[in-house]
Amino acid sequence: MAEFDYDLFTIGAGSGGVRASRVASALGAKVAIAEEYRVGGTCVIRGCVPKKMLVYGAHFAEDLEDCANFGWSIGKKTFDWKLLRDNVLKDVDRLNRAYIDTLETNKVTILHERAELTGPHDIRLASGKAVTAKHILVATGAHPHVPSCPGHELGITSNEAFHLDAIPKRILIAGGGYIANEFAGIFNEFGARVTVMTRGDQMLRSYDESLRERLLHISMLKGIDFRFHAEFEKIVKLKRGLKVHMTRHDPIEVDQVLFATGRVPNTKGLGLDKAGVALGDKGEIKVDRFSKTNVDHIYAVGDVTDRVQLTPVAIREGQAFAETVFGNKPCAVDHSCIPAAVFSHPPLCGVGLTEKQARQKLGAVKVYQSDFCPMKNVLAGRGERALYKMVCDEADKIVGIHMIGPDAPEIMQAAAVAVKAGLTKADFDATCAIHPTMAEELVLLR
Ligand code: NDP
Repeated sequence: MAEFDYDLFTIGAGSGGVRASRVASALGAKVAIAEEYRVGGTCVIRGCVPKKMLVYGAHFAEDLEDCANFGWSIGKKTFDWKLLRDNVLKDVDRLNRAYIDTLETNKVTILHERAELTGPHDIRLASGKAVTAKHILVATGAHPHVPSCPGHELGITSNEAFHLDAIPKRILIAGGGYIANEFAGIFNEFGARVTVMTRGDQMLRSYDESLRERLLHISMLKGIDFRFHAEFEKIVKLKRGLKVHMTRHDPIEVDQVLFATGRVPNTKGLGLDKAGVALGDKGEIKVDRFSKTNVDHIYAVGDVTDRVQLTPVAIREGQAFAETVFGNKPCAVDHSCIPAAVFSHPPLCGVGLTEKQARQKLGAVKVYQSDFCPMKNVLAGRGERALYKMVCDEADKIVGIHMIGPDAPEIMQAAAVAVKAGLTKADFDATCAIHPTMAEELVLLR
């Protein structure tokens, strides 16, 4: 008789948990995974994937305007939110099924219920069943933080945004990060009157200042309002809509409030204390570079560890965990130089150090940039300029690349390889341009 029911029990079937479980199983482990909601996690069910589809849907609003100067005339334009919403949700169902299939193909037992720890190797399921596991992986993700002001229950988070019955005529989005800027673009393109409020004096703090300024400028030109240094006082229900009172600004009446004020690790009620797992100040699970907690056989990956809250990072952490524990190949994830993008309108992205970070860290730096109007925007009469920026150390080694403009994240993925590989400005200069493209600006920077 085996000492434990499973070699690995994973709690949470999101990006990190699914990858870890299927790889561990393929490496010969007996694996079970518990998920209380839907297999796929935040990214697939209520995050990156459906959001990107809405970004595509929203962008047609601009394409339909821009096509006029290219000779196209389109009759009356109408937009059917419910059609898009339902098509997106249908695709989410397809992906959910694909994730389940992947786990089943890899012989991972899926338990569609909540699981909690009751001891170092002991797990109790919502149905009451108790199981044991030699190793436990916590991959429970995070949930939206909602500021605690009177009336906060009247607002929604990005979780609910995918299921709305209608696009609100007026929406207030709280937060100045990824979700706030992405949904501001989406709702604005769908015709909502969008106001973004944030507690600080800037948005997207981790991105290069020039890009942030460019996005703010373009967003304002598109009609999005911004309120800085604003904190909630209260939200009051009106006969029609909501009235939001905030510090330093007049109250505003809207139809919907969307909270996009960060995400909190899902560690409450998991029984982590019963297993002796140590948490950090934000409730995140503290792990070492191999994703191991302070308890030798318990690991954690993804947003629940609050290292870098990005899907590809969680996937890498899950893969590294499985290879380390079940593949006898210790590997730690390198969290440096991770490229990231905000799918705002237009999108922006970056890899490596911003100019400010580079100056603080390296002292003298060299900055090369191109501030240009993409050819398509010129003909369309859309005065939105793109900005590409390369930050190098004194020896001209690239330490960061930052871009805002159409399709910038598509271009960034390849550029990030060069930064990660430690290439220099001279390597870019030596590469012939593909003309005419936007990406060629990267090898023509001055
Ligand atoms: P972000 O961390 O991007 O931004 C949070 C925003 O909320 C900031 O403006 C922050 O202000 C503000 N904020 C934080 N706490 C409070 C509070 N207590 N009261 C008021 N405001 C507050 O979080 P998001 O919610 O936008 O997204 C969550 C995470 O999901 C992101 O960090 C990202 O890792 C991931 N994500 C990634 C996407 C992508 O890759 N394209 C898309 C969407 C999400 P301040 O700056 O002052 O701290």
